[in-house]
Amino acid sequence: MAARLSPLAIMTKLVSFPTVSRDTNLPLVDWLEDYLTGHGIETHRWIDPEQPHKAALMAHAGPRVEGAVVLSGHSDVVPVDGQDWDGDPFTVVERDGKYFGRGTCDMKGFDALAIWALVEGHHRGLQRPLQLALSFDEELGCTGAPPMIAEMQKLLPKGSAVIVGEPSMMQAVTGHKGGQTFRIEVWGHEVHSSIMHTGVSAVMEAARVIQWANEVNAAEASRAPSDVAAMFDPPFTTLHTGLIEGGTAQNITARQCRFDLGFRAVPDQPHEDWRSRILGRISEVEQAMQAIHPETRIDVETRFGVPGLVPEQEGEAEGLARALTGDNAGHVVSYGTEAGQFQEAGYSAVVCGPGDIAQAHQANEFISVAQFEAGHAFMRRLIDRLAA
Ligand SMILES: [Zn+2]
Repeated sequence: MAARLSPLAIMTKLVSFPTVSRDTNLPLVDWLEDYLTGHGIETHRWIDPEQPHKAALMAHAGPRVEGAVVLSGHSDVVPVDGQDWDGDPFTVVERDGKYFGRGTCDMKGFDALAIWALVEGHHRGLQRPLQLALSFDEELGCTGAPPMIAEMQKLLPKGSAVIVGEPSMMQAVTGHKGGQTFRIEVWGHEVHSSIMHTGVSAVMEAARVIQWANEVNAAEASRAPSDVAAMFDPPFTTLHTGLIEGGTAQNITARQCRFDLGFRAVPDQPHEDWRSRILGRISEVEQAMQAIHPETRIDVETRFGVPGLVPEQEGEAEGLARALTGDNAGHVVSYGTEAGQFQEAGYSAVVCGPGDIAQAHQANEFISVAQFEAGHAFMRRLIDRLAA
């Protein structure tokens, strides 16, 4: 029989693998798979064919029936490059009531608690199954979860309630905005700026799209928010350009201009609507450009997007998190998570995990011992519930 590790021992082990998103996470997955299968727990890994040095791990404990509670975490962490750490970021150190280490907060602390719960539940005997979904590339825009979720639905009995353990101070978070970013490249026609009416300036045309975004923001801000939108700050969808470059000289109409345009949408507004509004406006600008010079164009590349998490009516995951935490307030957060992706795939989903998002991604990242213990208590109550 394999050893049964404490949550702290598991977290210490997980943190020791430097699973920065750009690098492999296979040593962590190998260790975890050995640990879980050593206890007789069913596991499956999904390897990304386009980057075979990364894998997601799924596990199932309890009866092989539908309706599992799914504990969802990610194995990757953000880099430590250029950060001033007091010690080795990949060694957990306890000091002043805090566990320091890269990922302790975001989110190997929760991962460790979930792994502990799976083993505990397996040995105790569960009436209702418990599943683990451990993704990768979350920190690159939640790109690892959708294929993992699809695979999970093929390999395991479908779960019903998903708890995504991103740091929320153990509060039940039922909503977050979603969003999408586009990389837009405008191709104009160069002439001397003294005869600019015969050319097409990629910079000036890009400005039309960006100015439209400003107008949309103003219009959205002045609308009465829906009940869902009113939970957010700001209570409306925003469009933003954070990067632009283009042109060669002040006296030449620019041949090229590239910029990013993204939206963060309140979760009751479909992404498709925003996407088609943005693409529609770009297409109008492009048509006007082509009326002057047919060879001009605007290329649009869709970059990553994350669906919003829509607060559910009487949601099962929310009800479960509330029952286990005693937290009955309504919470939304401003960051995206994999919860929206699980919800999109048909699960009830909530975000609830130990630690404070303010400590995520920082030098000397930590999770407080008190939060880690609160997470442990949460898992003990969850097991009590599923075993009953
Ligand atoms: Zn995270």
